[in-house]
Amino acid sequence: MTDHPKIPLAGVIGHPIAHSKSPALHGFWLRRLGIKGHYIPMDIAPTDLKEALQMLPRMGFVGINVTIPHKEAVLKLADVVTDRAALIGAANTLIFRKDGKIHADNTDGAGFIANLRQHAPRWNPAAGPAAVLGAGGAARAIVAALIEVGVPEIRIANRTRPRAEALRADFGAKVQVHEWVQAGNMIEGCATVVNTTSLGMVGKPDLRVPLDGLRPGMLVTDLVYAPLKTQFLIEAEAAGCTIVDGLGMLLHQAAPGFERWFGTRPEVDQATRDAVLAV
Ligand code: NAP
Repeated sequence: MTDHPKIPLAGVIGHPIAHSKSPALHGFWLRRLGIKGHYIPMDIAPTDLKEALQMLPRMGFVGINVTIPHKEAVLKLADVVTDRAALIGAANTLIFRKDGKIHADNTDGAGFIANLRQHAPRWNPAAGPAAVLGAGGAARAIVAALIEVGVPEIRIANRTRPRAEALRADFGAKVQVHEWVQAGNMIEGCATVVNTTSLGMVGKPDLRVPLDGLRPGMLVTDLVYAPLKTQFLIEAEAAGCTIVDGLGMLLHQAAPGFERWFGTRPEVDQATRDAVLAV
């Protein structure tokens, strides 16, 4: 733990930030663990980002989470960037070190895997290819994580094909790019299927990819967690697949930052889910 003498402060910066569930999550952990600390949502405009990162440590902040639109920009302002954050090209967790240096990490991929391990303990990433729908910011973290845990082949389809091609260029030959209109076909024979698009989220259009390729035994997961059980997951469950919702990823990606800032690893359990779902 960083040994700042003051009550430690942490928070999340974004623009906008009102929708963030992170304050409810970290607030729950702080209360549960009896830690004297605070976690604050902060709306920071891109033009104020550099100044904010200079000021926050001086104001008693030990670190922050970073969300849209700052996840890429903070990499250029950090002094130390972990390999995985550099590979992904974005950071979601900053630690303000006592020596004044800003340490940037990306815990999205680890959170994604921890969620699958918790809710689908029999999932074997090496059992077959993974199909990844979407190639946005979150997909980069998912592809990196899937490669790290031994998925033999990753098939990606994205509406905007060049974004998927960029993933292939960055992550190598295990990644194959498929046409967005062929996304349904690429699911066939996969062991793992992941929706990383925002389709299916409240207020967004439905994911219209044909899902007849889903088979019992496949692991199907959605990064969207509002609604908790998306239409994609409902159809996958009906096809006999093992399904895992996206809320656990949000909870697990937050745990390493909390531990670094406040000194205790928080537990991700049903009470944590309930606390976040209640807001
Ligand atoms: P992003 O960078 O904006 O990427 C959005 C993705 O959705 C892109 O692949 C985009 O395709 C696709 N998409 C959007 N509208 C589409 C449409 N009408 N038709 C086809 N494709 C469409 O966003 P992100 O940061 O990767 O986040 C993606 C989703 O994951 C969001 O819903 C976010 O809330 C969720 N997420 C969840 C967690 C968690 O902890 N569970 C963590 C991170 C993100 P194009 O490239 O063609 O635009």
